[in-house]
Amino acid sequence: MDAVVLESLRTFFGERLRENVPLAPYTSARIGGPADVLIDIRSSEELAWAAQTLWAAGIPWRVLGGGSNVLVSDRGVRGVVLLNRARRVCFRLEDDPPTVWAESGATLNDLAQRAARQGLSGLEWAASVPGSLGGAVYGNAGAFGGDMAGNLLTVEILHRDSGRQTWPVEKMEYGYRTSVLKRDHPPVVILAATLRLQRGDPQAIRLQMQANHEQRRRTQPPGASMGSMFKNPPGDKAGRLIEAAGLKGTRIGGAEISPMHANFFINTEHTRAADMKALLQLAQRTVFDKFGVWLEPEIEMIGDWDEESAP
Ligand SMILES: Cc1cc2nc3c(=O)[nH]c(=O)nc-3n(C[C@H](O)[C@H](O)[C@H](O)COP(=O)(O)OP(=O)(O)OC[C@H]3O[C@@H](n4cnc5c(N)ncnc54)[C@H](O)[C@@H]3O)c2cc1C
Repeated sequence: MDAVVLESLRTFFGERLRENVPLAPYTSARIGGPADVLIDIRSSEELAWAAQTLWAAGIPWRVLGGGSNVLVSDRGVRGVVLLNRARRVCFRLEDDPPTVWAESGATLNDLAQRAARQGLSGLEWAASVPGSLGGAVYGNAGAFGGDMAGNLLTVEILHRDSGRQTWPVEKMEYGYRTSVLKRDHPPVVILAATLRLQRGDPQAIRLQMQANHEQRRRTQPPGASMGSMFKNPPGDKAGRLIEAAGLKGTRIGGAEISPMHANFFINTEHTRAADMKALLQLAQRTVFDKFGVWLEPEIEMIGDWDEESAP
C-alpha cells in the first residue's frame, strides 16, 4: 500500500488506524482473517473523507457496518476496511409524516428503540435485525412484513465520480434483499439516510417489538451466524428446502447447518471461512440435485478467496 497515503491517513486518524487486524471480532459469525488496515470511523464526514482519499490513491477499500451479512475469507481483506461507527441520529417530529435522519453507522436496533420511546411507529420490524443502517439500506433488510424499501425516503451517498448526492428511494432500485448497490457494485458509499415514520401508540409499538423478538427467539437459533444464508426462492423457503434435503445438523469443520432452522449456518467453534463456504456450496448442490432449485446466497463473501485454504 502507498506509504505516503498510509501516513496521511495515520496523521488524520491516529490510533484509530490499525494494521493487520483480524476481522472475526467485527462480524456476527466471528469468522474472518485480517484487514491490511482497519480504520475506526466516527462520523459521516470522516467516512466521506476516507473514501475520497482511498479512491484518489487507487487503494481498494470497503465499509463494514455490523458485519452481520458477510462471510470474510480466512485470508482476510486486502486494502482498507472502514469500520463504520458514524452514529448521529436526528428525529424530525415537525415533518409530516415525522422522519428520522441518521448516519449510516447507526444501528437499526438503536433507531427502532429511540423511535419507540418517542411514540414513532414504522421501525418495529427493524428492532431485532442486527447491523447498521448503511448495511440495511445497501441490502434492503427486512423482517416481519417490513423492509428498508418501505421506510426509506432519501439516502445521502458519495459517488467516486459524481460526488455527494441525495437519492430518492427509487434510485436504490430495491428488490427482495437487494438494491442497485448490492447488484451492480457502483463506486458508492452510503453516508446517511432519512426514514419515514408515523405517530403511534408507544405501548402498542413496544408490544409489537416484543412479539417480534419472541418469535425470533422461538424460531431462530442462538450462536454466531450471518442470519439467513440464502434468499427464499419464489414461493418457497430456503430453510424448508435445505431441511427436506436432509441437511439439518450437517457439519463441515466447525460450521453447522442449524438443527433448529436450516437456513442458519452456525459457527460452533473455530470455524474457518473455507468450511462455511464449503457448507454453503454443499447445501446449494444438494438442494439443486434433489429439487432443481438453485439457492441464491443472501450473504456476501468478501475478502481474498483466491485458492482458499487454511492460512
Ligand atoms: C442473527 C441474525 C439475524 C438476522 N436477521 C435478519 C432479518 O431478519 N432480515 C434481514 O434483512 N437481515 C437479517 N440479518 C442479516 C443482517 O442483519 C442484515 O443484512 C443487515 O442489514 C446487515 O447490516 P450490517 O451493517 O451488518 O452490514 P455488513 O454485514 O457490515 O455489510 C453488508 C454489505 O453492506 C455494505 N455496506 C455496509 N455499510 C455500507 C455503507 N455505509 N455504504 C456502502 N456499503 C455499505 C458492506 O460493504 C457489505 O457489502 C440477520 C443477521 C443475523 C446475524
